[in-house]
Parts: sequence; C-alpha cells; structure tokens
Amino acid sequence: MKRRLPLLFAIVGVLNLGAAAPVRMTPVKLTDNVYMLQHPTGSSNATVVFTNDGVLVFDADIRTADQTLEFVRKQTDKKIKYLITSHSAGDHATGAWHFREDKPIWIATKNQVHDLQMQELKEFSERRDSTDPRFASYKGRTLGQPDIGIDGPMTLYLGGTTFVITPEGRGHTTGDLTLYIPQKRLLLMGDLLDTEIHPGQGESGEIFFSNVKGWIQILDNIMARNLPVDTFVPGHGPAHLGRGAKDLEEQKRYFVVMRDEVAKMIAAGKSLEQIQKEFKVPQEFAHYTGAERLRSFYKLYYNQLMETGY
Ligand SMILES: [Zn+2]
Repeated sequence: MKRRLPLLFAIVGVLNLGAAAPVRMTPVKLTDNVYMLQHPTGSSNATVVFTNDGVLVFDADIRTADQTLEFVRKQTDKKIKYLITSHSAGDHATGAWHFREDKPIWIATKNQVHDLQMQELKEFSERRDSTDPRFASYKGRTLGQPDIGIDGPMTLYLGGTTFVITPEGRGHTTGDLTLYIPQKRLLLMGDLLDTEIHPGQGESGEIFFSNVKGWIQILDNIMARNLPVDTFVPGHGPAHLGRGAKDLEEQKRYFVVMRDEVAKMIAAGKSLEQIQKEFKVPQEFAHYTGAERLRSFYKLYYNQLMETGY
C-alpha cells in the first residue's frame, strides 16, 4: 500500500492541473464563542458569534461562506439569526445565499443596499452567467438583498450579547459599518482595518469608492471613542489578539505616510505614471503583502491630492 502512494499523489497532481487551488478558511478563536475565519491568502475574513439564542455572522463571500456555514453547523444546532455586512464589496456581501435555510435578518447600511442593487448585482449576475471556471461559486446562486438598511447606529440584543452597529461614513467605501461587541471587548472593522497587507481600494462591481481623507477621519473617530476593546478585527489579514488600538494607529499612520510620500513626488514634478513606476514602499510597511493592491491606490492618492489638496 505504501508503495502506491507516490503514484496516487502523481495522479491527483495531474487531475488538479489547471484547477484553482482549494481555499480553506482557518477558524481563529478571538474570545469565548467568537471566531474569525481567516482567509489563507489575504482575501476577506468572516466572523461568527455564538449565543444561546442563535448565531450572528459578520461578512459573507459567496466563494467562502459555505465554509462559514459548515463551521457553524459543526459547533451548534442553533440557527444563524443575523447577517451583518461591513460594506458592499463582493468579498464581504455576496454570501447570504449559503445561509438561506436559516433565513437570517441581513443588516447593512443604506448606501450599501444601494451599491449592492446597482453595480454589485450587475457583477454578480455577469459572473453567475459566465462559463469562466473562476466564477463557479456563483453558478445558480442569487445575490439577495439586505432586510434592513440603516443610516444611523443600531443596537441588537441576541442571547444576552449586545451588538452595536455603527455606520461610519465614507472611507473604504460609501457605506462602511463597524460592529462593536462590548461584552467580548471586540470591534469588527470590516475593511476599515487591514493588517500586514496593503489595504484594497473599496470596490463594488468595479466601481471604486475609497476616500483616504474620510478613511483617516473614521479611524480618528473610532479611536476617539476610547472603547474598552482588546482586539480590532480586520477585514483582511490576521487578527492581532490583544493589540488594541495600536492596529488602528498603524492603519492611520500607513495612510498618512503613503499619502505624504505621493505628495512629495507630485511636488517633485512626477506624473502619475512615474509615481506608479518609481514609488518605494517605506521600510515600516515593506513587510506588508498584497503589493498589487497598491496600483489603484497610487491613482487614488494622486487624484485626491491633485483635486482637493489633501
Ligand atoms: Zn475586502
């Protein structure tokens, strides 16, 4: 039997040629009854909160939310009662279909609802109807739509746990929200916080939304609340358990430093093309992954600096 193994591996290897590498989300315990499902290559994370009265899920990507459901089913026979999506990008707000049996109430910001029904629905439909094997997760599935669109803070109580949902305004997208869970000393940031990876441009169906000034302002607003939070949970990258607001400080500093570097190059007469070619990531952020995500950001810094001066 042992001697056959190499052959078996060889066959499996051949069969796998051309197929997308399997993506397995890793459950990371944030605190009692709360887990972040971490994407292995830096795409979006999802978070699951278990209570005696049911489960709350934060963020769902159609490509990985089946694993979120699988994880929930393994831990409990209680239903998913709420789905909250941080913003309208496909990697955070397309996975509700997987939870349809549980009929969770889906809560988003009002702007998010709008963006989902406009460009994101268009992209979702195109991918669903495509024969491209990369979009196999979309086949026969629907995007659905949030049940509640909020434009002010909202507090939920589920199984003795308090959840404070706050629309944070325009930063990563037009409608980012955060979720504060005081008893768990956690604040779920969506893509307003990415760790150890260059932040992505807020995108929904190839429409780009990010606003650096707004993003910095939101980080300032959250830090000014001085919340008793042990861990700010990122939309992409690993959760730094117990690091607290240092992650927010680093994210803010990142935008200030990167923007100022671009500003210096503009002052030196560089064009956008030259900046894209010559920009050197400052040493303190050189270990960040996802360098390809920077490309659209140069344009964003450049345009926002040229148009508005900040
Ligand atoms: Zn994302």
